[in-house]
Amino acid sequence: MNTNTETLYQDNILGNYGLPPVTFVRGRGTRLWDDQGKEYLDFCSAIAVTSIGHCHPKLVKAIQEQAETVICVSNLYRNENQARLAQALNTKAGGAGKVFFCNSGAEANEALIKLARLYGCSVSGEENKRYKVVCAENAFHGRTFGGMSATPKGNVQKGFGPLVDGFLFAELNNIESFRNAIDDTVAAVFIETIQGEGGIFPASIPFLQDLRALCDEKGILLILDEVQCGVGRTGTFFAYEKAGIQPDAIGMAKGLGGGAPIGAIWIRDDHAGLFTPGTHGTTFGGTPLISAAALAVLETIEEESLLENVSRNGEYVLQKLRELQEELPDYILDIRGSGYMIGIQIAEAPLEVVNELRDQGLVVPPAGSNVVRFLPALTATQDDFDEALDIFKSVASERAEALRAKVDA
Ligand SMILES: *Cc1c(COP(=O)(O)O)cnc(C)c1O
Repeated sequence: MNTNTETLYQDNILGNYGLPPVTFVRGRGTRLWDDQGKEYLDFCSAIAVTSIGHCHPKLVKAIQEQAETVICVSNLYRNENQARLAQALNTKAGGAGKVFFCNSGAEANEALIKLARLYGCSVSGEENKRYKVVCAENAFHGRTFGGMSATPKGNVQKGFGPLVDGFLFAELNNIESFRNAIDDTVAAVFIETIQGEGGIFPASIPFLQDLRALCDEKGILLILDEVQCGVGRTGTFFAYEKAGIQPDAIGMAKGLGGGAPIGAIWIRDDHAGLFTPGTHGTTFGGTPLISAAALAVLETIEEESLLENVSRNGEYVLQKLRELQEELPDYILDIRGSGYMIGIQIAEAPLEVVNELRDQGLVVPPAGSNVVRFLPALTATQDDFDEALDIFKSVASERAEALRAKVDA
């Protein structure tokens, strides 16, 4: 352990994260190294952020070259990289919309919630009349006031009241629950296509299709938070594509910059005009530097056929995990997810398991109250998965044994 870093943390860093005694100093591809020289297989990817692996040469080169050209020009002026990135994302989202850039998932969601308010205002003709947003139970939309108010979790909301008014919650994959929540004060439905932090709960394809029809029937917006599940993570660029639907607006962030901080929203042309000059903005959104990084990520996804890679290996690992579930049915309770966004529900709280897996050389994030996530870089190979599965199997077998012994005692 590097005592120096540990002391610096203790003396200077806010205690809002419960941190293990590990300091990472270097990354390459799917590998990380700590300050003791120990190598890890990284299936956390900075929580679905380092989407093309650590220090991908193309990303490094794009950042280096742009840093030597111009880093920031503000959004008072145009910059070419932002325009090219917006065009690329617009194409991915169906081609008939507009993009706004910001710096994080929570900030993308703030803009989406503001879109819902502007939309409600415009269709009802007055302010404070049609402004509510229906979200899903167990959702996670970020830590800002809007995002937090859309996140019905004690640990996220407690101590911060009063929250932002106007958020309602319905049961995911229950269309009647959403229908019942919608009245003429509601402007939008806002959900994660696949719930991430809540424990990897996908919105089903029929549910997404029904939800699209319901929003059309009620004349409200369907807004999807693809901050975690977007940018190729599930084997399609956006996770909703599998349902063949078109949302009215989309939020993205995490994987988009490959580790460079960027968020974005896409809005269908019908509603993009609601944001007129002066209605919204941010200093750092879509700088030449960060846009260059995101462009390198999108180009790498194309050039290295990463969507195909994710689809193929995602199926493989789901199959392998289901086999393991049959071997350890008392310990592995469920396997959920799609592509490289996989949740393994286990028979205990995830923190100790996550620590043990890391000691064995596999870095993974927990989720919800009893889920371990696999969120490797989209570049991860079948060999990477075999290695991760070996480590997971040995730790899970031990934990299952220990749990059985506890029950018997
Ligand atoms: C991580 C996450 C956010 C918040 O993103 P930040 O960049 O941490 O603000 C919002 N929505 C979802 C679905 C997320 O996974």
